[in-house]
Amino acid sequence: MTCFIDTHAHLDASEFDADRTSVHQRARAAGVACCVIPAVAAANFDTVRLLAHAQQDAYALGIHPLYTQQATEADLGQLDAALTAHRDDPRLVAVGEIGLDGFVPELNTPNALAQQQLFYKAQLKLAQQHQLPVILHVRRSADLLLKGLRNTPVVGGIAHAFNGSLQQAQAFIAMGFKLGFGGALTYDRALQLRRLATELPLSAIVLETDAPDIPPHWLYTTAEQRAAGEPQGCNEPAELPRIAQVLAELRGISIEALAQATSANARQALPRLQ
Ligand SMILES: [Zn+2]
Repeated sequence: MTCFIDTHAHLDASEFDADRTSVHQRARAAGVACCVIPAVAAANFDTVRLLAHAQQDAYALGIHPLYTQQATEADLGQLDAALTAHRDDPRLVAVGEIGLDGFVPELNTPNALAQQQLFYKAQLKLAQQHQLPVILHVRRSADLLLKGLRNTPVVGGIAHAFNGSLQQAQAFIAMGFKLGFGGALTYDRALQLRRLATELPLSAIVLETDAPDIPPHWLYTTAEQRAAGEPQGCNEPAELPRIAQVLAELRGISIEALAQATSANARQALPRLQ
């Protein structure tokens, strides 16, 4: 059976509270052998760790840029302590999700940006000290993220839901990163993203759903459809093979070849996934 790794799935999200066990079972039945569950704030460090153990998945610990405004210095201390306490846990594969968000207006005031940068830089230092790769949130922030990595190099990792330029992609690759692709490339109109996912070397690509976010086109409902009572489909790891099929067709390779290469790439980016 073709095996996939979902390198980014927020399986602790409340969207899955009603049927978390079935979501897990559907993922395994679809051939998704492992999911990486990133934390977003100190408050969910224990949750993602326990969930990864219960489901035989993997997890990452970090403070997400969208959560930096409520975060404090003490949360960084908690992250450092958790990385130390679980240093021998084979399911702890990275520091993440960390990064910078240049899209959300409230986070792009001078004060909010300074707070984002403070947490990004501090967490890069922790990743460096603990010799762990990082899982990066990149949204209109690729150049600033790359600058941070040049100042505080880490062992590599994943630039998740990548949507930058080819030059930015190559800069991440040169720093030992893989680029995460998921549901966004299933849209016909995503021309630039599709071109990028087709032109990059296969060795640079990992797959992800970002569940429950970034629904592939077959789950997406428009604002009008939602107003008419049709719910937004919930994205989940079991969608990964169908997303992969789209990418395999764009690249003109078999889905087996894509699954095998991207799984190997994920293990290279996050060595503890071995
Ligand atoms: Zn995420």
